[in-house]
Amino acid sequence: MNNYQVDKSGFYGDFGGAYIPEILYACVENLKNNYLKIIKSESFRKEYDQLLHDYVGRPSPLYLAGRLSEKYGCRIYLKREDLNHTGAHKINNTIGQILLAKRLGKKRIIAETGAGQHGVATATVCALMNMECIVYMGKTDVERQHINVQKMQMLGATVRPVTSGNMTLKDATNEAIRDWCCHPSDTYYIIGSTVGPHPYPDMVARLQSVISQEIKKQLIEKEGRDYPDYLIACVGGGSNAAGTIYHYLDNDKVKIVLAEAGGKGITTGLSAATIQLGKLGIIHGSKTLVMQSDDGQIEEPYSISAGLDYPGIGPLHANLAQKHRATVLAIDDDEALAAALELTRIEGIIPALESAHALGTLPKLKFKYDDIVVLTVSGRGDKDMETYIQKLQTDTE
Ligand SMILES: *Cc1c(COP(=O)(O)O)cnc(C)c1O
Repeated sequence: MNNYQVDKSGFYGDFGGAYIPEILYACVENLKNNYLKIIKSESFRKEYDQLLHDYVGRPSPLYLAGRLSEKYGCRIYLKREDLNHTGAHKINNTIGQILLAKRLGKKRIIAETGAGQHGVATATVCALMNMECIVYMGKTDVERQHINVQKMQMLGATVRPVTSGNMTLKDATNEAIRDWCCHPSDTYYIIGSTVGPHPYPDMVARLQSVISQEIKKQLIEKEGRDYPDYLIACVGGGSNAAGTIYHYLDNDKVKIVLAEAGGKGITTGLSAATIQLGKLGIIHGSKTLVMQSDDGQIEEPYSISAGLDYPGIGPLHANLAQKHRATVLAIDDDEALAAALELTRIEGIIPALESAHALGTLPKLKFKYDDIVVLTVSGRGDKDMETYIQKLQTDTE
């Protein structure tokens, strides 16, 4: 039987590891040696569970979407991460990591952000825990995502615009790593997805695994069995997908479908379909599939959804794709927009553009009438209203 979990040296098959500068070695070692002990400890569990319940609003509902089910001829349940405090799944991770940082005696929190969602989730927990917070964000993104910058500032965080490279997420991440190298002893780096050097991918997957833990319980109540036939989620770095599938990885009865961002189409050069287009390389301390040119320069990904345009992919997911444990579909901008509008009109739920990519797989899959499908709605669409309005206007012109 395949083992899909991380091994002792931090690898998922050919992917993962910790390729880090010497100066960070001690701090990543320290994290590696302590994260499991801490997150399994009773005091951590108690505080984490309480905050997830009272502050985030968990468990998030598992909603049987009646009209959507009718349309696709199966039973579709939506896992409603969009209903969490701050509007997405990211808060599950930032709460866990800040509790860990406190227990490691760290005083200062840094984070990278692209669209600003992880920055807001980090600034939120820093306000909650009274910790200094510095968020690195590409200058291009600072300009594109103004509301999120203002939210972070209102929450008390310092947003540092990054002017190297293309001034987007990859550059912000490089800058955050540089900061961490300068302050390894007092600073904790909260990474926003199942990416980065070991143990981050495993740690973030565990912190998000509350999603599949709840799905199991909720399915028993609703269907009398704890597993679905299909699990569907979108992947940027992979954290909401990892949380959705975590407790089902070894159950072969459960088909896993991952939606990556096709952008304008995978052959157009404007895409973020890393699993299909990426080649083996190293990005942000992890060996994984990377969008890169023939001479190994990282290529800027493109997607209509800012949360999915990361040029790498979590090593867990790269391995699931390679071992054919997961089916990966590239969903284009137009398909995601159509899926977002469909959910809005038939269920009254406006999803995040990222989550709309997961919904965009539905027309491509062949379901049986009694199939149970669980699809994670990773976030709500408030932040994407400008894009939606623009698109709807051009469509009706
Ligand atoms: C950030 C984000 C994503 C992508 O990140 P993952 O780590 O792949 O989950 C997906 N959906 C929403 C709403 C996000 O904010």
